[in-house]
Amino acid sequence: MLDQAALASAAREAERVVPLFVLDEALLRGPCGAPNRLSFLLDSLRDLEGSLRQRGGRLVLRRGDPVEEALRAAAEAGAEAIHLGEDVSGYAARRLRRLRSGCERARIELRTLPGVTVVPPGAIVPQGGDHFRVFTPYWRQWREFPRGAPLKAPRRVRVPGGVRGERIPDLRELTTAPPSPDLLEGGETAARRRLERWLRGGLTGYEEGHDVLAAAATSRLSADLHFGCLSPAAVLARSEGRPGGEPFARQLCWRDFHHQVLAARPDLPHRDYRPRGDRWRRDRNLAEAWREGLTGYPIVDAGMRQLARKGFMHNRARLIVASFLSKTLYLDWRLGAEHFARLLVDADLANNCGNWQWVAGTGNDTRPNRVLNPLRQAHRFDPAGEYVRRYLPELSGVKGGAVHEPWRLEPAERRRLDYPEPVVDHESAAAEFRRFREGRSG
Ligand code: FAD
Repeated sequence: MLDQAALASAAREAERVVPLFVLDEALLRGPCGAPNRLSFLLDSLRDLEGSLRQRGGRLVLRRGDPVEEALRAAAEAGAEAIHLGEDVSGYAARRLRRLRSGCERARIELRTLPGVTVVPPGAIVPQGGDHFRVFTPYWRQWREFPRGAPLKAPRRVRVPGGVRGERIPDLRELTTAPPSPDLLEGGETAARRRLERWLRGGLTGYEEGHDVLAAAATSRLSADLHFGCLSPAAVLARSEGRPGGEPFARQLCWRDFHHQVLAARPDLPHRDYRPRGDRWRRDRNLAEAWREGLTGYPIVDAGMRQLARKGFMHNRARLIVASFLSKTLYLDWRLGAEHFARLLVDADLANNCGNWQWVAGTGNDTRPNRVLNPLRQAHRFDPAGEYVRRYLPELSGVKGGAVHEPWRLEPAERRRLDYPEPVVDHESAAAEFRRFREGRSG
């Protein structure tokens, strides 16, 4: 409820407000309907319903087409205006266009409010361009952009009678697929607890710790930000000026950066931002080994198993597994992005596709042909092998950093492990990739 611009503006201007959430049937059929994300969403709706009740209101939940349902609810309430939080995807833009023409026909005012990002997409642009393509100049301007204080939650919310709403469904009513076993709890209450814990304990060590795979040294706020349980501006305001605040702000800026790219290039999820003439390999077995966490590279497999178990993956592991898929295995980054979208609780079109393209070298990275070496990454960011052992029980008996290279173990010990041989030789695969890319650009 805190810093929710649409709710705050509706509550300020009208005596009665319909807090409407539409479960979009079309989105439910795609990755948004994946169990991990749905589980978090339903937690969030239940929490929101509780907060609204405490303020004398209720949540009006509907299922169907969001434009039709919003117009129908507005008609039932005799509403004069619809206040809507803006979003950045192509789907959101089409939805907004339809709503705008529906509102015109029904003579209802439409107000769109920012808040998905700290700086609204398009509010800062480079000279002669419609969006920033490179991060550092964006970051410089983003830092200077004037910001107001986060908005307070309305004290009371009075909902008019006669507006139909459904009860919040159980997860099993929406999907038969089970969620990952170890998910974060969703909702603003849990999110604010996480934020407070982070500000008290974690933020100070962020700069040194954020890449350590085995440590819990990142905020874990990504899903809270994605689902709007916390606003990025409020998180930034609370963390600014504290030790660790600056590198943390930089990550929030990355989030805005990818959002402004997606707003300007709605085809980002499908089309290469900077085509490199790639001819991706098609190999189902390799793709399956990657998805299952059975590539024979423990650091890659641990990341993929963390994803399956938690619906989350550490950022450093995301970089390693994404580079491995798109550059070492040379499989289309879209396969990876789709798999992430199905499992990540924080899956987000802008961040997911922006980062995948960045790693695959088809996006905004200024060094598009670099390939991460999984072994070097493993020894640097998981030196004692703790992260790998946590997620690969079959290697739990291998001590220290040796766990990163099971192929070097004594043959007898090696045979006792139920763990695959590497699916490819990284060094030669990476060399082949570089030759291909450099041949293309040269
Ligand atoms: P922290 O390190 O605590 O960072 C704070 C916040 O900054 C995050 O919650 C997130 O909102 C933002 N942030 C951090 N790093 C990035 C980044 N590289 N790009 C954009 N925002 C960032 N993040 C998502 O939110 N959704 C995704 O679908 C997603 N897919 C990714 C796919 C790949 C291939 C890669 C390499 C990264 C992806 N990320 C994605 C970015 C990043 O990995 C996660 O935001 C981060 O791991 C979330 O953990 P945290 O909240 O503890 O992050």
